[in-house]
Amino acid sequence: NGVATSGELDASLLTTSLTTSPRPVPAIGSAEMASQKICTDHMIQAKWTEEEGWAAPSLQPYGPLSLMPTSSCLHYATQCFEGMKLYRGHDGKLRLFRPELNCKRMLMSTTRIALPAFPPAELLKLIVKLCATDGEKWLPKDRAGAFLYIRPAMIGTDFALGVQRPREALLLVMLTCFAPMDDIPGGAKLLASQDDMCRAWPGGFGYAKVGANYGPSLVAQGEAREKGFHQILWLFGEDCTITEAGASNFFVVWRTKEGKVQIVTADLDEKIVLDGVTRRSVLELLRTRLASSSPAVEGLEPVEVVERKFTMFEIEEAYREGRFIEAFAAGTAWFIAPVGHIQFRGNDLAIPMGDDGEGGKYTTVVKRWLKNIMWGQDEGVGNEWGFIV
Ligand code: PMP
Repeated sequence: NGVATSGELDASLLTTSLTTSPRPVPAIGSAEMASQKICTDHMIQAKWTEEEGWAAPSLQPYGPLSLMPTSSCLHYATQCFEGMKLYRGHDGKLRLFRPELNCKRMLMSTTRIALPAFPPAELLKLIVKLCATDGEKWLPKDRAGAFLYIRPAMIGTDFALGVQRPREALLLVMLTCFAPMDDIPGGAKLLASQDDMCRAWPGGFGYAKVGANYGPSLVAQGEAREKGFHQILWLFGEDCTITEAGASNFFVVWRTKEGKVQIVTADLDEKIVLDGVTRRSVLELLRTRLASSSPAVEGLEPVEVVERKFTMFEIEEAYREGRFIEAFAAGTAWFIAPVGHIQFRGNDLAIPMGDDGEGGKYTTVVKRWLKNIMWGQDEGVGNEWGFIV
């Protein structure tokens, strides 16, 4: 009983044990809420072993794990994770945003780090079950516009100390309280990475959401924050190719020398950039709603949407020639964050932030489109990207 016989991860075998000591939900604006340490009452766990495959997953009270000190994940970074949100809509509904993409990306990451495969649709069912269990209490109806952060993760728990593919693993899903996001006054300030630091490289694993991409970036991030910047703009190679901004994808809007408005983001070809769900959604929305063939939307010129390798030198050139229009970062955590400032090799670029100083026109429109889908408002209601829990 409770053991998956097929060895496949199977959400229909979920066992549920509800907490007997439910905890209070932190108030909006409280220090507890801001701490990002408060998880909801429950979590999902599923164990995997090489011999048996996946055991029945469980929904159980949130609490500490018990791991052997020699566990693989504690030594060899056999770990990967996802990041998504549960949104409390203005129409009272709880929604996920394109969650099947996160579940597929999680599978891609687990296989990159020698952790076991699973059907992404089963992970999605487990996530939905946890959201349905804790969502109503932890994201009450009077918190429209707020969200919980969803963190699926997998760790290698094999405690044989030798360096090898783990023969035991644990899948986890938890929900964390986050304060509602405020816009950064003046926009995000980015510090371009120096030649001695890069986040990812061809042949590496920058395209996967493995913990090993994040820990080593924290020295540069810490230094940037001390200097008053919010994030690192990660460059790669001698030609200073733009990759990402912190844990977000990065977009610039500029006018080409021929006079066309173009939105550019790094392509995924070299596998040094994460295939962000927000990135993909921004590209798809722009291509359908602001393509050169579509009628003018909200007074905006049509844009050419381009995924390609581009460099910090091209940004500087467009800036010098007065062709730079705006820039933004895009990701689950930061959502669509207008960028107001970039420093590169001691040179400061003040990026236009629109007439009201709250972000350029393209940034503002893209942000509104996505917000309306995620929080079920206006033209976003009924959009198939909003997955109702
Ligand atoms: N780049 C990196 C390195 C990230 O960690 C993230 C966050 N997952 C993103 C980009 C944005 O991806 P998404 O839009 O899926 O959150």
